[in-house]
Amino acid sequence: MAAYTYETHEYDVVVVGAGGAGLRATLGMAEQGLRTACISKVFPTRSHTVAAQGGIAASLGNMGPDSWQWHMYDTVKGSDWLGDTDAMEYLAREAPKAVYELEHYGVPFSRTEEGKIYQRPFGGHTTEYGEGPPVQRTCAAADRTGHAILHTLYGQSLKQQAEFYIEYFAIDLIMSEDGVCTGVLAWKLDDGTFHVFSAKMVVLATGGYGRAYFSATSAHTCTGDGGGMVARAGLPLQDMEFVQFHPTGIYGSGCLITEGARGEGGYLTNSEGERFMERYAPTYKDLASRDVVSRCMTIEIREGRGVGPNKDHIYLHLNHLPPETLHERLPGISESARIFAGVDLTKEPIPVLPTVHYNMGGIPTNYWGEVLNPTAENPDRVQPGLMAVGEAGCASVHGANRLGSNSLIDLVVFGRAAAIRAGQIIQAGTPNPALNPHGIAKAFDRFDALRYANGSTTTADLRLEMQKTMQADAAVFRTDKTLAEGVEKMAAVAAKVGDLKVTDRSLVWNSDLMETLELTNLMPNALATIVAAEARKESRGAHAHEDYPNRDDVNWRKHSLAWVEGNNVSLAFRPVHLEPLTTVDEGGIDLKKIAPKARVY
Ligand SMILES: Cc1cc2nc3c(=O)[nH]c(=O)nc-3n(C[C@H](O)[C@H](O)[C@H](O)COP(=O)(O)OP(=O)(O)OC[C@H]3O[C@@H](n4cnc5c(N)ncnc54)[C@H](O)[C@@H]3O)c2cc1C
Repeated sequence: MAAYTYETHEYDVVVVGAGGAGLRATLGMAEQGLRTACISKVFPTRSHTVAAQGGIAASLGNMGPDSWQWHMYDTVKGSDWLGDTDAMEYLAREAPKAVYELEHYGVPFSRTEEGKIYQRPFGGHTTEYGEGPPVQRTCAAADRTGHAILHTLYGQSLKQQAEFYIEYFAIDLIMSEDGVCTGVLAWKLDDGTFHVFSAKMVVLATGGYGRAYFSATSAHTCTGDGGGMVARAGLPLQDMEFVQFHPTGIYGSGCLITEGARGEGGYLTNSEGERFMERYAPTYKDLASRDVVSRCMTIEIREGRGVGPNKDHIYLHLNHLPPETLHERLPGISESARIFAGVDLTKEPIPVLPTVHYNMGGIPTNYWGEVLNPTAENPDRVQPGLMAVGEAGCASVHGANRLGSNSLIDLVVFGRAAAIRAGQIIQAGTPNPALNPHGIAKAFDRFDALRYANGSTTTADLRLEMQKTMQADAAVFRTDKTLAEGVEKMAAVAAKVGDLKVTDRSLVWNSDLMETLELTNLMPNALATIVAAEARKESRGAHAHEDYPNRDDVNWRKHSLAWVEGNNVSLAFRPVHLEPLTTVDEGGIDLKKIAPKARVY
């Protein structure tokens, strides 16, 4: 073993990640008296959740009639019938409770005239099981909802004496010889020391892997570290082929303009000045779900109706809205449009383009956040000692396509659920399982090999090669040809990990080495994505396959599982959960209401 010394810390629970999911889990665990540590590679309130603008979905019904059953229906339809029914029911049913909890914790929501939480319309959220008009379901704190939630949850977690390890980079899980997760190895970035965290439960809340793509709305820290750690532990990733493109990333920078902009009345036009969404989605128009709008924009551009000198983007208009609305409801994006597009949105349209935004796939879990290690005999087998919540996880409530404002609610509902479950299965204060010295040695050996990597490819060059390949070949539209090429190219890209060159060998603030570790986490996520996409011979949600333009429920209504070992990906499938948690008699949803049908908006 490479010669490194480390300090050992013992907790009941260690949460890796301090975004909305990690903080909600941390807070919940600490509230129940579990000794809880939260590790984050960035200061908690700098996690990507801080950038969430539009809001958080819950059927409060503050702005007109709504029900959790309608929210559930919209989520099922949005998922293109790939989400797990029990998890989607849990999400929609628990959502109001989770939002009121946030309110009581102190989240400064925008208010209606009567002082209730303000709610705005968002894409795909409707009434009457998709038969009625759009609903105002998305609870908002202006266009800074994630910011408000993150600051509140961090304050509350401190109040509950959760212990934070800030700017600690988790390197790998420590697994016992018989496959139980018993802790995690972390590197303290500012002084170069190492820390082994022993725990009865490790919770991965590490966020998405948007940075596997060239143009993404996500922060540079969204490098799928949890997925990387899980893959190296021999566990699978689920539904990785489903990558969400947000219709309105600012052309050039990729910076997000929230869907709330269209919720407040914004609309898209092509080079002919036409509001083309009226043609594709006559009922919900610009508020159809994201995959639909992104595809329509791509078709307009392909057919020569894009705007700008190269006819390669689309306009988003907000200039017809009253300046007070923009000022009051969308102050943040006014600033983004000015800084990133040089546009005064009270006067001109914003140039936009579909941009990678969210990963529906991730670490498979049940609706308690427990990680699954499925076998053919038991597709719901629970992996002891490990949970995953937030964008890193796949519960699966978003299936093949996530509805806007359904991620923030996923973070808090499942962060909370994980805490409830941990309270049931963990005995606070009892001794932890012994740490496996080979597990620790393995993690250090990998770290050491990268630290002294002396090949001929820089991390930045290889990352760019990966990002361009994914952008070109696992795009909004896919074909057998582009996917087959993509699989081949990604295999060649991944092979170059063995040829990496790290120039800085130090252990203090070594961003070269940290980015290399991140690249080795992005890589298995990217490989799983393209291989699973190549395998799926149908179109569903965000996976738009031009050679198989229809959804195929007979053969493909199933979750993909991808095990990534080195550069090899092996696939298997597991059934979608079709059973709800409660029956109609118990006040639950009528299964007939959510039976698969064509997804039109
Ligand atoms: C610009 C933007 C706007 C959005 N707007 C909305 C919206 O309005 N409504 C909505 O519902 N959804 C929105 N989304 C989606 C939603 O915000 C994200 O899916 C969600 O915030 C992810 O939260 P998370 O807690 O899972 O991860 P993150 O917030 O990404 O946090 C990840 C955490 O993990 C830590 N971490 C990662 N790797 C390591 C490691 N190796 N070691 C230690 N720590 C690590 C990080 O430090 C960080 O604390 C938006 C997304 C973006 C990008």
